[in-house]
Amino acid sequence: MSKAAASKSAALRDLPKLDTLLGSAPFQGLIESAGRALVTEETRAALDVLRTDLREGGHVFQSELTEPALASLVERRIAALTEPVQCRVINATGVILHTSLGRAPLAPQAVETAMREATGYSCLELDRATGKRSDRDKLVNGLLARITGAEAATVVNNNAAATMLILNTLAEGKECVCSRAHMVEIGGSYRMPDVMRKSSCQLVEIGTTNKTKAADYEDAITENTGMLLKVHTSNYAIVGFVHEAALEELVEIGRRRNVPVVYDLGAGSIIDLKQYGITREPSVPDLVATGADLVCFSGDKLFGGPQAGLIVGRKDLVDRVKKNAMFRMMRCDKVTLSLLEHTLKLYLDPKQVIESVPTLHAIARDADEIKRKARAIASKLKKAGIEAEITDSTSQIGGGSTPGEELPTTVIAIRKLGGSPDAAARRLRLGTPSVFCRIENDALVFDPRTLLPGQENELVSAITAAKS
Ligand SMILES: *Cc1c(COP(=O)(O)O)cnc(C)c1O
Repeated sequence: MSKAAASKSAALRDLPKLDTLLGSAPFQGLIESAGRALVTEETRAALDVLRTDLREGGHVFQSELTEPALASLVERRIAALTEPVQCRVINATGVILHTSLGRAPLAPQAVETAMREATGYSCLELDRATGKRSDRDKLVNGLLARITGAEAATVVNNNAAATMLILNTLAEGKECVCSRAHMVEIGGSYRMPDVMRKSSCQLVEIGTTNKTKAADYEDAITENTGMLLKVHTSNYAIVGFVHEAALEELVEIGRRRNVPVVYDLGAGSIIDLKQYGITREPSVPDLVATGADLVCFSGDKLFGGPQAGLIVGRKDLVDRVKKNAMFRMMRCDKVTLSLLEHTLKLYLDPKQVIESVPTLHAIARDADEIKRKARAIASKLKKAGIEAEITDSTSQIGGGSTPGEELPTTVIAIRKLGGSPDAAARRLRLGTPSVFCRIENDALVFDPRTLLPGQENELVSAITAAKS
């Protein structure tokens, strides 16, 4: 036997036995905290990895095979299993609705109440007075109709589902008239022409990319028209020589020709955002008041709630949507409905809602207040030995909403945190909590607008920890 082969088999022989390990003191501690079953399984798996490694010629130091070393290896394996995959993130990107960072952070009050309800039984589909079966929609439809001014409302899992369900309900086997300017792709596989095909309706494209007139809609109406659809161009803007038929005009045509007018609004704000400098985002109550027959929008964009597709409008049409067999496949679970219910309740007080719904709070933040926050963070960083400048910049709403509209902000820029900006940004992302920022002109840029209450000090500590 060669010397190498002899040492390999010796190492294999030295691999401790499972039972011996589990009986040892370092493992007893682990068993107490993580339970015998999990520790046994993970120890067996760790020994298997080591054994395979050794067989395949890998080298293992004797020190790695001691009981404490193996216990700490198993502990790390268990920690990796139980560590939250959706780790906690500080969003310093200045993008308020960051799709990859989970879009809207939820209002703490709404979450607290919803979680209390979710841990017990609730009367989700039961009428307490009669003891009979009721509709789970009751938790939200009254409130949703009330705050949007609509006759009726309902909810499904997301706005993509809402759009598909409306298309299928009103235009299955029929035509849906839609402008060429509204052939949106939201991301992934959500492309308007494909959604229409999958909803079994025939797209009738009208107008051109830059101009669609009211007459184009009217001329396209046949006896087989199921609906006129307007789609919010959530993630792009067509500028220059442009014309888009107004909703008022479509409503007039729709009423006269007896064809429903539907608006896929996407972001869908309940609050009029003009007062905060967002000028091109129509509010849901405005569109309902203008006479759109149905409007659908996301729960987790500007509304600031959980992922959901909110549908509001005419009662007869909402009833038809709810009778569609697909409705059941797209219905929300009780946790989502509770979160929606308690977020909707916050909207009953239009002043308070700006403070309590984080997306609205981030939009409404005062530029001077942000500047003061930026200065305070920069001076704390300086105390920690990190050179930081503050400069004027802009924040974005993001999440496929309000393209081209930006909010003024003040950012903190760090040029030197050790290594390249990309490497430093990676260390920040991998820290605890994980920090996401922007890189601009070779500097790391942190926007206080998207920090949640109380995160300033955490951000300073995380940046300090990422210094190298
Ligand atoms: C975001 C968006 C959707 C999809 O909404 P989800 O809630 O993400 O499913 C559909 N239409 C428009 C116009 C959008 O902006």
